[in-house]
Amino acid sequence: MVKRFIPSFKVVNKSNTPENKSRYGILHLKHGRVETPAFAPVSTRGMIKLIDMDDLEDMNAQILMANTYHLFLRPGLDVIEESGGLNKYTSWKKPFMTDSGGFQAFSLGMGSLLGKSKFEYESHEQEASMIGHIKKHEGKVMARIDEDGIDFKSVYDGTKHRFTPEISIQAQEKLGADMIFAFDECTYPSASYEYTKESMERTHRWAERCLLASKRKNQMLFGIIQGGLYKDLRQASATYLSSLVVDDDSGEPKCFDGIGIGGAFGKDQMYNVLDWVIPFIPEDKPIHLLGIGTVKDIFESVKRGIDLFDCVSPQRVGRAGYFYVHPGHEGNIKNKFRLKITNNRFKHDTLPLDPECKCKMCKRYSRSFIHHIFKTEPLTGMRILSYHNLFFMLNLMKMIRESIKKDEFDELYDEWMS
Ligand SMILES: [Zn+2]
Repeated sequence: MVKRFIPSFKVVNKSNTPENKSRYGILHLKHGRVETPAFAPVSTRGMIKLIDMDDLEDMNAQILMANTYHLFLRPGLDVIEESGGLNKYTSWKKPFMTDSGGFQAFSLGMGSLLGKSKFEYESHEQEASMIGHIKKHEGKVMARIDEDGIDFKSVYDGTKHRFTPEISIQAQEKLGADMIFAFDECTYPSASYEYTKESMERTHRWAERCLLASKRKNQMLFGIIQGGLYKDLRQASATYLSSLVVDDDSGEPKCFDGIGIGGAFGKDQMYNVLDWVIPFIPEDKPIHLLGIGTVKDIFESVKRGIDLFDCVSPQRVGRAGYFYVHPGHEGNIKNKFRLKITNNRFKHDTLPLDPECKCKMCKRYSRSFIHHIFKTEPLTGMRILSYHNLFFMLNLMKMIRESIKKDEFDELYDEWMS
């Protein structure tokens, strides 16, 4: 009999001073291993704009995040299932994670109605500010949450759809990613205590239904902590999800394999939330911080014990003309470690984008040439910056992992964050 693969997570090195809880670990997933802390580039519909799978292999991306909402609507789950799942369909051989689709179901339909492109959102925070109990536009309901799930209209063509915890889990099982997420509602920071509590309790009931609905044991299922900016709710959510156990059909007890931290955060409030919840999560569970990915947020989160990140930032800011740089080459917290290539001062700058970067764009082209190309052949310019930024972020994670292994994370943190 063939032994069935069961994914696992192991913490290999960890710091445990009051100021530094960083840890290096290994996730063993069905499509390979992922060293943590890790950053998952977001291939929304299976691919990243202007970047292909060869690029992601070249830059040693370990795992990608794909969005269930988008794949559910286009090309449709059956197309992907017929192809043998997300890996075969996209040709990506390493691990994938998929989100539950709930977040986009509630936020995107509204964005399209307001005349904003879904690509204009800079971050989770901005998308999430659209979220409330019922979304209306000019009196028309666009998305509605009830006890059982979310009714929403497609961002592509306005057709009506419904997600429930069971539908989300079945969708993610059809896609077949290595890591999947429970269906939740992301509340926005200004939501009242009463609404945030009501929503969190519903998310907990959905979490239990997700555990009961999941049938595939070769996928890691993550529960998602909510609770807004309220300490007692956040801690109640962390405790509930970390200790939730259900019996599946065979009577075998099931719990979440990992914990996600969700929600929208105002400036720096996120660090408080991490400080509140992480002590309530068992040490053997990997922790994913959803939708976060600035350099500062990554350092501050790793320091607090986060293992996994996903974010669209590297490619999104790249398409807007920004490129990441190391400290020592003008990168600092204030400029978010990024400069803008269209700035006139780069017209005569013969340096690479980031003199410390080893990516193929930095090995080959000068800032001066990329400045010229970004203005005259913008798609090619956007590709160069997207490539560099993704490489930079993945390389930063590698440096962070190496520093934790050598017990030198504090030194690396000081070098970047001072
Ligand atoms: Zn580079």
